[in-house]
Amino acid sequence: MNNPDSPELDQLLAGYRRFREHGWTPRLERWKELRESQEPRIMVIACSDSRVDPAEIFDTDPGEMFVVRNVAAMVPPFETNPGHHGVSAALEFAVQVLKVKEIVVMGHGMCGGCKAALTQDLKGTEPGEGGFISHWMGLLDEARKPVSQKYGTTGRVAERAMEQAGVRVSLDNLRTFPCIRRKERTGELKLRGAFFAISDGVLHLLDEASGDFAPVS
Ligand SMILES: [Zn+2]
Repeated sequence: MNNPDSPELDQLLAGYRRFREHGWTPRLERWKELRESQEPRIMVIACSDSRVDPAEIFDTDPGEMFVVRNVAAMVPPFETNPGHHGVSAALEFAVQVLKVKEIVVMGHGMCGGCKAALTQDLKGTEPGEGGFISHWMGLLDEARKPVSQKYGTTGRVAERAMEQAGVRVSLDNLRTFPCIRRKERTGELKLRGAFFAISDGVLHLLDEASGDFAPVS
């Protein structure tokens, strides 16, 4: 390989060469269509976790999904305070410019962010030393209370409950955005909660009426 000092880069470049061979060259027409614009109909909000790539799980082609990934697939509430609102910017673009028809929030099993929300192990740490994660996962502080009361703060049952509660919180927060609320009301936009169980590779969809996640057959 070319970079003896960086096996990580070598791995990326080997993958890039496979992509050029199998993903780029045989689909030049599709790439040509996408050159000027994109028209994805779906937005997915997923965790940054390396095991839950939406493009892989949903087996999509380039141009089909607009994706935001962050720690624990969280959507913050609509806020206009100073700061850099990356998720809000992506939502604004997807909903108002791309006019996606569906937003899917996909939580997942064994989520480190949700675990941090549950244990609060990082509370009180400095930014850069865990503080950013702790502050971000503070988005789940309210949802954590009933989970910890019912299941405690450790173990898979509690963690899974926290992971699934996180999806519901993100959906609730999506609805604090006026444009999203309006479009959902008029039927232009649908919001969907999903959960990918890493243990068995099964996707679950949230039934918002019952609050339960059911496996997709
Ligand atoms: Zn995660």
